[in-house]
Amino acid sequence: MSIQHWLNHIDGQWVDSDQHLTILNPASNQPVATMAQASVADAELALQAARRCADSAALTRVRPAQRVSWLLEIARQIRLVADQGAEILCAENGKTLRDARDEFTEAARYFEYYAGMADKIEGISVPLGNGYMDFTLYEPMGVSLQIVPWNFPVSICARSLAPALAAGNAVVIKSPELSPLGLCVLMQAIERAGLPQGAVNLLCGRGREVGAFLAAHKSVDQIVFTGSVPTGQSILRAAAENAVPSVMELGGKSAALVFADADREQLLASVRNGIFFNAGQVCSAMSRLLVERSIYDEVIEQVGALARGLNIGPGSENAELTPVISAAQLQGIQAMCQRAQQAGARVVAGGDAVSSLAGNFMQPTVFCDVTADMEIAQSEVFGPVLAILPFDTEEEAISLANGTDFGLVAGVFTQNLNLALRCSRRLRAGQVYVNEWFAGGIETPFGGVGLSGYGREKGQEALYSYVRTKNLALRIQGE
Ligand code: NAD
Repeated sequence: MSIQHWLNHIDGQWVDSDQHLTILNPASNQPVATMAQASVADAELALQAARRCADSAALTRVRPAQRVSWLLEIARQIRLVADQGAEILCAENGKTLRDARDEFTEAARYFEYYAGMADKIEGISVPLGNGYMDFTLYEPMGVSLQIVPWNFPVSICARSLAPALAAGNAVVIKSPELSPLGLCVLMQAIERAGLPQGAVNLLCGRGREVGAFLAAHKSVDQIVFTGSVPTGQSILRAAAENAVPSVMELGGKSAALVFADADREQLLASVRNGIFFNAGQVCSAMSRLLVERSIYDEVIEQVGALARGLNIGPGSENAELTPVISAAQLQGIQAMCQRAQQAGARVVAGGDAVSSLAGNFMQPTVFCDVTADMEIAQSEVFGPVLAILPFDTEEEAISLANGTDFGLVAGVFTQNLNLALRCSRRLRAGQVYVNEWFAGGIETPFGGVGLSGYGREKGQEALYSYVRTKNLALRIQGE
């Protein structure tokens, strides 16, 4: 049976390429489809198209109400393709059908949310006294380069694309090699909304070649990168050459602080979602659980039972624990788990791959007796692996939580409001959840400190990453 072949979208056209990538289903490692692999020449054409669009009046100087209509129409079109897109995303990515569908719904919500802001990007007037009038304009940056990772390709892409278009930018999207197909469906929906030619270009090329070429290109006015720390650093070096502003959404090693009075049901629901959702391949995963010593043994037992009880299987069956993206990712996770054991961490659950299944399945894994100096307490695993550490005092909990190079999110579980607020203030993270991991939504600013990156996505604040301020100072004669 032949499989479908997908194309890149450049300057309003679907274009093929000489080279093709085979996209595998992580649940079986069988081919799902092939994808045209964009070349550097394709990337150049996409940038030129975006440049022409950004420099024309078609996108940037239309009445903002027109951009509102475009964004709302994109949202409507995304909802129409959500079922078809979910099946493709589930097959190429391994996530559950339900979560894949949620990605499309969330993508539609981003466009609705930023549609509501597209006609409210208002500057200020600055009083300068007699003889002057002064005001500020928010202008689009121009060409926004958006480099997308594979873990939530559709919703992460929409997270940056929607505010970029709301503000009047033209966009080049570099989709992830391991999971580019959902974005092709997203692009089909966008195409139907009738935006000016070249406003949105979608390319799937090799990161080190095409991604690096795009990041270093002089025609790029802004870079939004979501991905790993080393890639982010190399993109930042390229951006520095051209002094291009960037938003960096990088990794994490986020901790939940669990105090003795925590509601256990709320906690366990959060652990389940926090580290096992999307097979732990979530930048803001709850990858460390810091537990007050008086309940340490009890929590270990409960979390271990939770992990062992999860049903493991393909996303197409909406299993509770789905495969990780690739065989290489699985090997990396296994190796890290072996090193954790060698370093003295004790296995409470899992610890290895699932040998009885053909795809890239990792057992839901929980380590306890982890100490702060261990790799498993410091480095991002990006898989379903939780490290549990005990603490004795509030001070120690804060110091452990803040004791990594990352600072994406953190959580506090307690019934004591004062304690929760004290900790929330002191946690070095871009977002703090109290009593529910992943509380918040597309409306709440999200981003990191330290090696987790900088700049904020989501919420109203994010829109201002996609504009630059111009001040207009006028001399008035006769006053
Ligand atoms: P990755 O860094 O390997 O790749 C991300 C993207 O960058 C891909 O499109 C890839 O092709 C491209 N790329 C690779 N090398 C490049 C280069 N030299 N120049 C330009 N582009 C290049 O990351 P990944 O494995 O796809 O995603 C996992 C990582 O992303 C994890 O570390 C995770 O924490 C992070 N992440 C962060 C967030 C966030 O919002 N903070 C969200 C999701 C994922």
